[in-house]
Amino acid sequence: MSGKQKNTGYKKNALYMEGVELAHIAETFGTPVYCYSATQIEQNYDAYRKALSSVMDAKNFTICYACKANSNLAVLRLLQKQGAGADIVSGGELQRALKAGIAPGKIVYSGVGKSEAELTEAIRRGLFQINVESERELELISKIAVKLKKKVPVAIRVNPNVDAKTHAKITTGKKENKFGIDISKAPALYRRAQKLKGVDAVGVAVHIGSQLTSLAPFKRAYARVAELVVKLRRQGNDITRVDLGGGIGITYKDETPPDLYLYALMVRDTILQLGVHVIIEPGRSIVGNAGVLLSRVVNVKQGTGKKFLIIDAAMNDLMRPALYGAYHAVLPCKKSSSKTVYDVVGPVCETGDTFLTGERLPAMKPGDLVALMTGGAYGAVMSSNYNTRPQPAEVLVRGDGCALVRRRQTVEELMGHDIIPDFAA
Ligand SMILES: *Cc1c(COP(=O)(O)O)cnc(C)c1O
Repeated sequence: MSGKQKNTGYKKNALYMEGVELAHIAETFGTPVYCYSATQIEQNYDAYRKALSSVMDAKNFTICYACKANSNLAVLRLLQKQGAGADIVSGGELQRALKAGIAPGKIVYSGVGKSEAELTEAIRRGLFQINVESERELELISKIAVKLKKKVPVAIRVNPNVDAKTHAKITTGKKENKFGIDISKAPALYRRAQKLKGVDAVGVAVHIGSQLTSLAPFKRAYARVAELVVKLRRQGNDITRVDLGGGIGITYKDETPPDLYLYALMVRDTILQLGVHVIIEPGRSIVGNAGVLLSRVVNVKQGTGKKFLIIDAAMNDLMRPALYGAYHAVLPCKKSSSKTVYDVVGPVCETGDTFLTGERLPAMKPGDLVALMTGGAYGAVMSSNYNTRPQPAEVLVRGDGCALVRRRQTVEELMGHDIIPDFAA
């Protein structure tokens, strides 16, 4: 279930992920370091598979993991072995998905601004489906496909004008958002598709946002999609697939995410009478609660009227708090009962480099370890090199074992991309 972080918790007074003490990972690989629980990722995937299987035959749905949430090759490989397909949003993610062994026939290509080069590569590979975001893109796909003597299965991503009631920066299904095609204009575009030789408009796609904690917006969007499918079939479009997107929320603080069995029942009630193949694209709810960002306390600084807990992870490692005001709980790796109120901050020269404000936490001292919880999704993938900070290492945990799955960058590597031109030398 896409809920709490079940595979990470205290044993006696030490914080563990599965059978591995997090302090051991910090000592072995240094900090800051992302740690992911392989078991949790598999359980989250399996929860989707089981829930959907309760309302339809396994051959009638495909779970395409949204790679952008966490595209580490080890994570992709783990999911590939579970049978997952992939939802990709760039040529880079296509390369990653293929490298992880995900078959082209299980890859859906979404993304609001695909380049001609990216589309050409995707068409060459023969992906399961390309989700079209505009009329121009539809024409371009057809043109490339004709040149390559291919016929590309496409879905048109419609914008159902539904408020996902989530953070403004991760809502995508309102009419003022840049995503998809206004649902009222879709029939005309599907008619256009009938005339294009290089595309086969087999599906309708929708994705209304991320971190949704209620089923109601999904239900409204899916009902609109179902209505559209009926209309499209009447005008002669043979719609055989519906792509329902991702977006199911997880627990960062006190949110209650939708139950996946209730989600599956809602899909049954809104979509299954159409007799279509169903695609879903969960990202966050597969990996979010499987990860933590492990960090070491650099300093405890007494400010005016507040105490700062300065840690060695920063906004460049985990951007969500600075970007969305997102909450990530901070747990000490050694449990303690004494409490102090802290602002938890990173070392980057921005006031926005703040993880928590006025939080009651166990008293800590320099050298202590903390875990920023629920960091498996949109964490490492969003990291940057601001302040010439190397991107952190990543470690995958399974049972009593753990393995490095991404080396920490070095400053040498970062500087290696810079060039001092002759005129400045
Ligand atoms: C980001 C994205 C997803 C995944 O969203 P989550 O909230 O991580 O589940 C799925 N589909 C599309 C098109 C996306 O852009």
